Amino acid sequence: MTPLERALRDRIADEGPVTVEVYMEACNAYYYATRDPFGVNGDFTTAPEISQMFGEMIGAALADSWRRAGSPADAVYAELGPGRGTLARDALRLLRGVGFSGEVHFVEQSPILRETQKTVFPDAHWHEWVENLPARPMLCVANEFLDALPIRQHVTGVERKIMFEGDGLAFDVDGEIVESSPARDEAVTTLAKKLVTSGGVALLIDYGHQRSAPGDTLQAVHAHQFAAVLEHPGEHDLTSHVDFGAVAMSARRAGSAVTPIVSQGAWLKRIGIESRAEALARSNSDRADEIRSALHRLTAADQMGELFKVIAIRSPDWPAPAGFA
Ligand code: SAH
Repeated sequence: MTPLERALRDRIADEGPVTVEVYMEACNAYYYATRDPFGVNGDFTTAPEISQMFGEMIGAALADSWRRAGSPADAVYAELGPGRGTLARDALRLLRGVGFSGEVHFVEQSPILRETQKTVFPDAHWHEWVENLPARPMLCVANEFLDALPIRQHVTGVERKIMFEGDGLAFDVDGEIVESSPARDEAVTTLAKKLVTSGGVALLIDYGHQRSAPGDTLQAVHAHQFAAVLEHPGEHDLTSHVDFGAVAMSARRAGSAVTPIVSQGAWLKRIGIESRAEALARSNSDRADEIRSALHRLTAADQMGELFKVIAIRSPDWPAPAGFA
């Protein structure tokens, strides 16, 4: 039995079955606090860990927005759930190249990942939650952050819970599932309000769907394989598909301007990832195959290209970022 499973067992014995939201929050807090999950020897590989091109494209898009907003000197780079800091490193290389010299702010709760981020960005500022980000114009990005925030599940209006059955965990009801995520709505609303008040733009990238629809999307991943959601709590990565329709609605309600939801593949191509890949392949001919295969993984419809979506939210005073029209 994992330490978290023991704690959950005690809690369920005391209080009765726990909601999916409580379960997911407890599992992910434990999971990220106890490991670096990324890469071939970990559980999963994210886009910035596949290739530097991903962060460079984000950096290029943010740099373009910043310049068209008049290059405000008080703007900061902000990232939600920065993982190993790889995306930030690649994006900031581009941003520094156009004269952006703002501070780096990270929203990260994992002490282990904060340590890793500190080796790349010793001078960064760390925050527990979106609310704590500074009241300054922000160039913000969140990649695979919203998918880790807890969701609720309902079956015919009844909230789905998790109980103990025999030796293991089990769901108390089955049926057609409707998901919602107050934690995501709250994160997006808080971020959008900050952008409206202080200026700036945020790129939100995740796997998910355009329209809200019923369905069970909660999934566990371990060592690059799908695993059972209720087995080994806290030892596997738990995520769910992000409802981008709900993200857009929260952002709009908070007063921010919102772009269309586009696929990652289409967006990266529109902002020039193919020519970046060719340039990189030319100047690193020994790695040309690796670079082209990374381009394929990031953009092809049967890879990350279609499943992953991008949306940008911004202050109505800021220009629309490139690649969404
Ligand atoms: N953006 C990175 C990492 C994605 S994994 C990449 O693309 O590689 C999810 C990240 O979000 C991790 O850094 C994790 O520690 C962080 N995270 C998850 N839940 C969080 C929460 N509730 N508050 C703050 N950070 C969280």
